[in-house]
Amino acid sequence: MKNVLHGRCTGCGKTHAAVPALYTCPACGGIIDIEYDYDYIKSGIAREPFAARTEFSMWRYREFLPVEEGSPRPRLRVGASPLYSAEALGKAIGLPRLYLKDDGLNPTSSLKDRASALAVVKAKEGGFSRIACSSTGNAASSLAGNCAAEGMETVIFVPRRAPQGKVAQLSIFGALVISVDGNYEDTYRLSAEAIEKWGWYNRNAAINPYLVEGKKTVALEIGEQLGFRSPDWVSISVGDGCSIAGVWKGFSDLSRAGLLDRMPRLLGVQASGCCPISTAFTTGEPVARAAENTFADSIAVGVPRNPGKALHAMRASNGAAVSVSDGEIMEAMRLMGRFAGVFAEPAAAASLAGLKKAAAEGIISPGASAVCIVTGNGLKDVQSGIAAAGEGVLALPPDMKELERALAGRCIC
Ligand SMILES: *Cc1c(COP(=O)(O)O)cnc(C)c1O
Repeated sequence: MKNVLHGRCTGCGKTHAAVPALYTCPACGGIIDIEYDYDYIKSGIAREPFAARTEFSMWRYREFLPVEEGSPRPRLRVGASPLYSAEALGKAIGLPRLYLKDDGLNPTSSLKDRASALAVVKAKEGGFSRIACSSTGNAASSLAGNCAAEGMETVIFVPRRAPQGKVAQLSIFGALVISVDGNYEDTYRLSAEAIEKWGWYNRNAAINPYLVEGKKTVALEIGEQLGFRSPDWVSISVGDGCSIAGVWKGFSDLSRAGLLDRMPRLLGVQASGCCPISTAFTTGEPVARAAENTFADSIAVGVPRNPGKALHAMRASNGAAVSVSDGEIMEAMRLMGRFAGVFAEPAAAASLAGLKKAAAEGIISPGASAVCIVTGNGLKDVQSGIAAAGEGVLALPPDMKELERALAGRCIC
């Protein structure tokens, strides 16, 4: 990998060779960050500018990705998700210059595909044939799908509460699914022990430093889609904290390669029923264990595994953290559907609810441009969608008279 220098420990600062199975720091157990040779990256982009490229997937940004040049690209098309200008929705939340980055349109319908695609390549480079992870649901279904397409096996640990849509994906993709009778923390611990015992490739996001590198491609795309002019704010929901860390890494990579005019401010959004990271951001206290009390299952992470990188992303960008109630998330699901035609799962709508709150509280000014990252599709969790939408269906017999009666007084003609 000519573009990669090494992995550096964010704790003790030691550097380590960037081999596929480099996880946490062998010296101190700290989280590793992959460091690049930006001169090498710049020379690649100078030879072939992005505008001239015909690859429409996350691999469009190959100079920025820590994979061997000869490694085959995975088959599933991951990335290249649309960035919509969403003025009507923006007006509804008090930020008319709003964009939606719909990452629910990835192959398994979440942003996690970006990380899983990278994990699959690294596992192959390392000669592994089986990959494991613990997950609230989306990391699991994305790993299972991306592995199925490459003929690799997966062992998946999910908490019992994982929504049916995500569990259905796991089974359809042929994963070995271990549904743990416990919360996400219990699930995580069991997976860590099993991975240690059986030596599978580890796709746990905070442990494996390559996953943030996959997730960062969402920011590289936003940068290019906006003509390499940074938005004022980017909002994303936060569970373990790896996604927001990836967003920060992507924008800083663009900036360090001389492609971006300035850095955006990052808004990290948590559910108020489980907000250890936003609480730590606001109080300045260390991150404390929290209950997992929200229907936004993908961000119900009581013991986050990557709070350091997440807090750094918010602080270094002069950003902010907010937490939103389940009621506010449901409202955001309705608004996004009604005004933008995008169906988000609860954790994905939380980023919109957070923008609305940040605008109302004066953290973000009404004239600011903001990108809301939609991290997962609402069809993964239909039950929550129905709960958020409420009534609204007219149930009628097949009878014109009944229809006329039911529509009387409604302005439809
Ligand atoms: C995983 C996930 C998040 C949060 O990402 P973290 O890396 O855990 O902070 C947000 N939304 C959805 C839909 C997710 O699947």
